[in-house]
Amino acid sequence: MTPGFDIVMSMLDSVGLMALLSVILGTLLRTGLNKFQKSLVAGLLFGGGAVISMMSPMSVSPGVIVDGRSVMIGLGAAFGGIPAAIISAAIAGSYRAYLGGAGAVAGTTGIVLAAILGTIWARYFRPKGRIKVQHLLVVGVMISMQFVVVVFLFPYEIAVNLLTNVFPIYFLAAVTSAVILGTLIERERRLISSGASLKQAAENDFLTGLANRRYLQMAASDPDMPAESGSPRHTLVVLDLDHFKQINDKWGHDAGDRALVTFADILRQHSRAGDVVARQGGEEFAILMKDTSLPDAKNGMERILQATRSTIIEGPAGGFHLTVSAGMVEYRPAEESFSAAMSRADVALYNAKNAGRDQIKIARYSKAA
Ligand code: GH3
Ligand code: MG
Ligand code: MG
Repeated sequence: MTPGFDIVMSMLDSVGLMALLSVILGTLLRTGLNKFQKSLVAGLLFGGGAVISMMSPMSVSPGVIVDGRSVMIGLGAAFGGIPAAIISAAIAGSYRAYLGGAGAVAGTTGIVLAAILGTIWARYFRPKGRIKVQHLLVVGVMISMQFVVVVFLFPYEIAVNLLTNVFPIYFLAAVTSAVILGTLIERERRLISSGASLKQAAENDFLTGLANRRYLQMAASDPDMPAESGSPRHTLVVLDLDHFKQINDKWGHDAGDRALVTFADILRQHSRAGDVVARQGGEEFAILMKDTSLPDAKNGMERILQATRSTIIEGPAGGFHLTVSAGMVEYRPAEESFSAAMSRADVALYNAKNAGRDQIKIARYSKAA
């Protein structure tokens, strides 16, 4: 009996399927589904993949079939999490039971074991960072071990025959396809996370983690900006730390940076869900409060100034205080451009500085302005 070539062919058959699965998985991971939902759908995907690979099996003796299912299920569990493990094993296990034959119990058990082994790998052997070939070899070897356990569900002679004639080739094919499928999945994951970090870098300020100027402008010109009624009215605030040059000169640039980060935290703590809080550059910040009237925004701004005043920043020789000036305007996208509203807010800020700093000035909207 030379099942070797057939097993390899059957396993390789799965490679095309694996490539397809990983592309679908990549698309899925880019959607807005939450982690749990993603895991469930990954379970359906890998369970379905295992069923498809059972449709082109290699029969090694009557009722006993070998195919790529254990790798699908094992890696689905290894990468998809526990919900994916349960769902994919339930789908593939039911299908294997339905196929019946002498190997039905062993086959179903093997599927469950592959899911457990993949989960164990994810829990104890999966690296935090990049998943490399050596990690995939480990998961491939672990998943293959289901075969060694499951053969003992067969009568002794069959078990020995399976172990000596089938297992070595199954082992090579399973480990190879675990490396292939794992590499494909890992590649998708890395593409997604590098895309996400590029987006993060493009939209956020590096020092404070707040939105950057570019993101603020994008958010302000977003046509979907919520409007409860008719023509929306938002509040736009620009803030500029007072005498920041002196702070740098007196306490050093690092302390200045710390002050910027602390101030950003104050802004974050005082902002509401819909607010866009941005660092415009240097020691200048801006907040866009959607669907918020000026009087409503004013109290919150007073609290920000108060919190800033009373916060102590650690300098190289003792703590120091910080104050901030702000200019506020009502911004009606239907009536003026964002840059026009910004210019008005800058004028209000200039007035706050001239009036002695550490205060808020409002510029009213007028058609002539
Ligand atoms: P005013 O009260 O009128 O705003 O005075 P000011 O000193 O804050 O204003 P000015 O525009 O003259 O100085 C801003 C200073 O902010 C100059 C610059 O060294 C400092 N600065 C800008 N960006 C950073 C930064 O990322 N880190 C630090 N530490 N300092 C910065
Ligand atoms: Mg400034
Ligand atoms: Mg300043």
